[in-house]
Amino acid sequence: MINVAIDGPAGAGKSTIARAAAKELGFIYVDTGALYRAVGVYCLRKGIVTTDADAIGSVLNEINVELKFIDGVQHVYLNGDDVSTEIRLPEASMAASNVSAIPSVRAFLFDLQRDIAAKNNCIMDGRDIGTVVLPNAQVKIFLTADPEERAMRRFKELEEKGSTVTYQEVLDDLKVRDYNDSHRKIAPLKPADDSVVINTTGNTLEESINMIVETIKEKM
Ligand code: C5P
Repeated sequence: MINVAIDGPAGAGKSTIARAAAKELGFIYVDTGALYRAVGVYCLRKGIVTTDADAIGSVLNEINVELKFIDGVQHVYLNGDDVSTEIRLPEASMAASNVSAIPSVRAFLFDLQRDIAAKNNCIMDGRDIGTVVLPNAQVKIFLTADPEERAMRRFKELEEKGSTVTYQEVLDDLKVRDYNDSHRKIAPLKPADDSVVINTTGNTLEESINMIVETIKEKM
């Protein structure tokens, strides 16, 4: 199987770019952030503090997270419910960032990610795909962009969905998540030694997609 790992900070355009590149290459696109978001949503629903490692560790056995690909589109299921929309709420983003720093949560989601990659040609995006989940991926890309540009993209996406969140709130939120993701003890966000680092600041989406597809084709 051919595995492409794409890591990078929130809002770098990973999902949009990876989805388009996967379509062009005929691979499945796996968004691993959705898994952490689903665990976060479970905690929010249960009123569990998302930084409480002990409390979360003790409910992991109540959680079943599944990914299904329907017409090539990923859906995430939490105990049988399709939570693909709910996981995109801003509170789910912060909950995901919090639970993702807990080692038992990462261990809980590890096999699921490995299994998908073992069975499919895929582009998998996340924070630790090239470094931890798929260290033998044939292609590793670290995709980044300046924080202000990433926040503006996220802000526009949320605005289109009718959210009333402000640009400043999105930027502040993103900086906290960047800090958390890159400073946590376990699987911190950083480029794998053998990754190609691509900065998409100032690029149009088309340019970024082409850059990624070309990089993947070259490496394959
Ligand atoms: O990619 P997305 O923004 O949906 O991810 C939500 C959160 O899940 C991130 O802020 C990060 O803390 C966490 N995450 C992670 N490892 C991954 C994917 C996401 O820690 N492979």
